[in-house]
Amino acid sequence: MATWRRYEELRPDELATCVSQTPVVFWPLGLLEHHGWHLPVGFDGMKAERMCMRMAEQTGGVLLPTMWWGGGGGHDMFHWTFYQDESAYTQILVETTQKLIAYGFRAIVILAGHYPWRKTLEERLPEIREAHPEILLLFGTEVTIVGDAVNVKGDHAAKEETSYGLSLFPERIDMDAMRSGRGDEVWPNRTPPPEDRRHSRVRFDPNDPLFAQMGEDSREASAAHGEAGVLQVVNEVVARIQRHLGG
Ligand SMILES: [Zn+2]
Repeated sequence: MATWRRYEELRPDELATCVSQTPVVFWPLGLLEHHGWHLPVGFDGMKAERMCMRMAEQTGGVLLPTMWWGGGGGHDMFHWTFYQDESAYTQILVETTQKLIAYGFRAIVILAGHYPWRKTLEERLPEIREAHPEILLLFGTEVTIVGDAVNVKGDHAAKEETSYGLSLFPERIDMDAMRSGRGDEVWPNRTPPPEDRRHSRVRFDPNDPLFAQMGEDSREASAAHGEAGVLQVVNEVVARIQRHLGG
């Protein structure tokens, strides 16, 4: 296993040594939002961070603190969710990426666990990548970060994400929490959102055990299914980093 470090814990001299020895950095992008009754609200960031850690165990490098502030998606009116303005998180994304390049990182992996990050990433990062052909700049969700090199799927708190969670942090998942008999206390103002503000594929009935989910039945999730997807993404990203730094 390679040695990797958390960016925020390092002194300047230690960071300089890390960059000179292994100029690799991972930045997980998440969000705090309702992910069904059975998953933690930080699910997307936790998923991305654990996958980045799995990559770093093979390549070494530095892990940036997870970006918890973002937005986009169909859950802004759910209790415990935070969505920020797009201009705010876009600015943080672009400026941080430019700083990482300026600080000498040669392989930068920006992995978004929250899928709407994809729009911002694809709008703003290609021009940075084109301006720095010497840098390996990989960005996207676990479904898109290496394109067609892997065959994995995503959803919201449903079968796919629950499987990733069962593989990466089963101790934070409570499958028994998915039950009926819930009231409307899930809405911050106790009033359900109007029909025209509801994402058409999200389950809005709090009494539905699959509340807030979008996708196939999460009760069919399995750690083995999740791990199969995690392994594909981790191995492909690691191979690209090693190829880039070795060449
Ligand atoms: Zn998610």
